[in-house]
Amino acid sequence: MIPKPYFVIKTHHQFGKTRTKIECPWCETQFWAYNWSMAGSGKRCPGCGSLHGMYLGAQEPPRKGTGK
Ligand SMILES: [Zn+2]
Repeated sequence: MIPKPYFVIKTHHQFGKTRTKIECPWCETQFWAYNWSMAGSGKRCPGCGSLHGMYLGAQEPPRKGTGK
């Protein structure tokens, strides 16, 4: 239940918007997120569904029904 800090790989500025490349600390998937998205409701990791946000950190990913 404790959020982890996510890793910022790099940032990219284009057309007045800033995107950040993030590495998910839960599953190590790298993905791009807009800063307005990160500052708002957050961006979900495409790998594990963990919600990432500037003020949220990386929330624990939702568990899928069956375990391994
Ligand atoms: Zn993930």
